[in-house]
Amino acid sequence: GALLTATDLHKAYGPTPALDGASFSVHPGEVVAVMGPSGSGKSTLLHCLAGIVTPDSGTITYDGRELTALSDAERSALRRTEFGFVFQFGQLVPELTCVENVALPLRLNGTKRREAERQAASWLARLEVDDLAAKRPGEISGGQGQRVAVARSLVTNPRLLFADEPTGALDSLNGERVMELLTEAARGANAAVVLVTHEARVAAYSDREIVVRDGKSRDMEYAR
Ligand code: ADP
Ligand code: ADP
Repeated sequence: GALLTATDLHKAYGPTPALDGASFSVHPGEVVAVMGPSGSGKSTLLHCLAGIVTPDSGTITYDGRELTALSDAERSALRRTEFGFVFQFGQLVPELTCVENVALPLRLNGTKRREAERQAASWLARLEVDDLAAKRPGEISGGQGQRVAVARSLVTNPRLLFADEPTGALDSLNGERVMELLTEAARGANAAVVLVTHEARVAAYSDREIVVRDGKSRDMEYAR
């Protein structure tokens, strides 16, 4: 069955709806691309699925649990332990080294420093940036920073990884390399990926595409 299912989501910030009846599903280990023009509702959909934004109506079920029925504390615990996030500009903590950045989610979950950094170092190696462990984000390139951000998003072994334009700030060569490593690492960890992008080249790494237009979604069911 599906890991996460959203049905008939509506969300409005003003008179024009951002989501106007969007539905969505992702299965374990699957990479789904959410595509569509700017302003179509992609980010709003992602934020609803990730439990960051509450829809006005509609249901979201993750692993048999109705997300909107959970308390704020339960939802944030779910985000910390079961979900991973990668954003357009990595968003690493500038004061921390790369290995400390990757170790951070484990530290927040109570893992001891030595063990957290051991696991972080092994994820840096899987993303082919282990040589950057002692560097700070200001000392590395954008492509390197995104690989570190991918390592950080996977270090907690999330079952679901949300990526919002993860290559949007990179040139095409770096973008392709980050997508290769992201999808390879996620598949290796059996994590499903929900990937928001407006680039067909990035969506080409997915198993399936959902197209969002005017807040409505259309499933290009295994179109490839
Ligand atoms: P996309 O990610 O496809 O560019 P968004 O989900 O960001 O689309 O936006 C969909 C619509 O909702 C847009 O009209 C946008 O201006 C509006 N919107 C999104 N987030 C907010 C917000 N926090 N406050 C007000 N309007 C918003
Ligand atoms: P990548 O392909 O991994 O993104 P680049 O080809 O962009 O790396 O960069 C090559 C080298 O130049 C990197 O090893 C990095 O040390 C250095 N470098 C690139 N961009 C920056 C930057 N903005 N700040 C500091 N160092 C950088």
